[in-house]
Amino acid sequence: MMTDGEITELLTTEDVSEVEELHGRARMAAESVYGDRVFARGLVEISSYCRNNCYYCGLRRDNLKAERYRLSPDAILKACDDGYEMGLRSFVLQGGEDMWFTDERIAEIVREVKERHEDVAVTLSVGEREEKSYRLWREAGTDRYLLRHEAADKCLYETLHPKEMSYDNRLRCLRDLQRLGYQTGCGFMVGAPGCSVEGYLKDIRLIEELRPAMVGIGPFIPAAGTLFDKYSHGSAEMTLRLLSVIRLIDPHLLMPATTALGTILEDGMERGVMAGANVIMPNITPMTERGKYTIYDNKKVTGSDAAESLELTGKRLKTIGKRLTLARGDWK
Ligand code: SAH
Ligand code: SF4
Repeated sequence: MMTDGEITELLTTEDVSEVEELHGRARMAAESVYGDRVFARGLVEISSYCRNNCYYCGLRRDNLKAERYRLSPDAILKACDDGYEMGLRSFVLQGGEDMWFTDERIAEIVREVKERHEDVAVTLSVGEREEKSYRLWREAGTDRYLLRHEAADKCLYETLHPKEMSYDNRLRCLRDLQRLGYQTGCGFMVGAPGCSVEGYLKDIRLIEELRPAMVGIGPFIPAAGTLFDKYSHGSAEMTLRLLSVIRLIDPHLLMPATTALGTILEDGMERGVMAGANVIMPNITPMTERGKYTIYDNKKVTGSDAAESLELTGKRLKTIGKRLTLARGDWK
């Protein structure tokens, strides 16, 4: 176990060679479990409606300027079919907390994806629900669930969310998901207002405690129509260091080089992978709606973030000695 002092040193050192060594060790840790593979997950952004009002997010319910759309179940199934044709075997259905998608509707979509394609993994990421909803979706065949904890420090959590949202409920959800046998993912934003190294230490300790299969971290990026629209984005450098430290803490983790990182850094995908990330999430949302899922400004929907350029993404990864894999890519 790394001490608080050791982690703080790695996150704050100005010694470039120390940082290089950190990234190198993290890369080796990932390779010791997953070899040279980087896993692709086809991302379907199913709805931009959200009942929540997270202060940082462009999809928050009070953002009247956000463009709202909702994919029909048929459109979601079609997106997965198309992704399957491209070779993808892992799909993530993500959206705002849109209650049009009732428990049963979501369960039915998952059942149908699994029915059409028995060799795929399905991940849901549709926010907080009751235990019985998660249970239903698990029984319907859902393999994984992404629900970032957002901030392990309760105070910071409350700075980032309105009173009606609760830190305790977020953690309750994560524990339910783990208990129900989901490969569960938590995570947080880097450099959101109020973030600090002390806060990251708490995030890291929470990850050690929960032992998730996946961790998603990316820089905070300001979004128009939110309370934080005047802040600057989080540091790519700090994001990369955190990726490495978390990789060293658990070499088995599946960790994406996030779209947010690719949005603030042209070579964010490569840099993320070189720092220990081993997942990418190419967007397979139908073109008619792609671009409307504006959780933050200037979100990338092209390049390594678009499923249409999978081949190019594979080539880019090859230049850094990695092999893009379209397989399910389960947690080991
Ligand atoms: N509604 C679901 C899933 C969609 S939001 C949920 O909240 O879990 C997915 C993630 O986007 C959130 O967990 C949050 O960490 C991230 N996010 C939201 N706004 C962001 C911003 N302005 N910058 C960077 N990441 C953001
Ligand atoms: Fe909704 Fe998720 Fe955005 Fe919060 S972060 S407003 S829950 S989409």
